[in-house]
Amino acid sequence: MFTTVFIGALFLVLLLASWVANAYFLQLGGRWAKIGKMTFLRAFGAIAAAEVVCWILWALFSRIPNAGLARTVFAGIILLILTLALTWLVIALILRTSLWRAAWAWLPTLVPRAGYFLLVLLTVKPYLIEAFVIPTNSMAPTIIGRHWEAPCPRCGSPAYSSVEPDWSDYDSHNRPVLMICSREHRTCEVADPPRVELPGDRLLVNKLLAPRRWDVIVFKMPEGTQTDYCKRLVGLPGETVVIRDGAVWIDGRRLSPPESCAGLEYLAEIKDYPEKLWGSPSKPARLGPDEYFVLGDFSARAKDSRLWQQGAPGHPPYAIPADYIIGVVTHIYWPLSRCRVLR
Ligand SMILES: [Zn+2]
Repeated sequence: MFTTVFIGALFLVLLLASWVANAYFLQLGGRWAKIGKMTFLRAFGAIAAAEVVCWILWALFSRIPNAGLARTVFAGIILLILTLALTWLVIALILRTSLWRAAWAWLPTLVPRAGYFLLVLLTVKPYLIEAFVIPTNSMAPTIIGRHWEAPCPRCGSPAYSSVEPDWSDYDSHNRPVLMICSREHRTCEVADPPRVELPGDRLLVNKLLAPRRWDVIVFKMPEGTQTDYCKRLVGLPGETVVIRDGAVWIDGRRLSPPESCAGLEYLAEIKDYPEKLWGSPSKPARLGPDEYFVLGDFSARAKDSRLWQQGAPGHPPYAIPADYIIGVVTHIYWPLSRCRVLR
């Protein structure tokens, strides 16, 4: 609740500040382009309306399925052209002038836009809040990455699977796909789900919050890969983690997870995986004073602390050092149908 108010207030302040600055510069630009009756209020209305129209355009564009780099770049260029054209059109309509004069008047707003970009880049993103999109599906059904979706055969609620890269050959087409049900939080096998790749959730990560057990966190991979990952925090500094009977045991005591992840079954073994997993009863994970242990909710498909081979320098393979944690996931903000507060 607190983080929602904090993020909402921060967003509103930044938005209003940017509209005021842009309107001021549009007003200057309007005089420069010799547009008559150029008041601040009209400039503000034009800026706000243009922005809302662009949001609708972007929302429509985000529904286009991902289709390779070349098409994504092409779509990006089209989107940029449409954004500029729509912005100028809305300004021209509200200021009752020509498209050409509207574009001319708009030009000085590039100054506050650049300043705003720097402000977000240098303060908000590194210290307060950052947006992420998650590549994999290992946190389904809480957070879904690129995925396939089909009704759960038991209850009919949506179930999610990872996108299987090799599904197109005949054999894998006949194999049922392992999915996880969004209502029961349990896995199910779906005979032949639609092989349509759907986009992942977009997340807000708060960098001021101290991570607590069961929080979903984003962190740098201890192995040193560039991608940031997202998992659930289950083991805290100084604890010994064991996975048994589908549950997490800390220092010999079985934990009961919160309501939001009730029903999840954590696996101490993965089918066909040759090695013993970290955190399995015969290979407990002992955490040092600044180390954390994380698990994915889709335990059968998650590459989490259990499977890592190489740790951060000076740390065991399963441990995330405290300074590798980027922040706590507080919200899913996109797509709208998946909007929710996590903390
Ligand atoms: Zn179900």
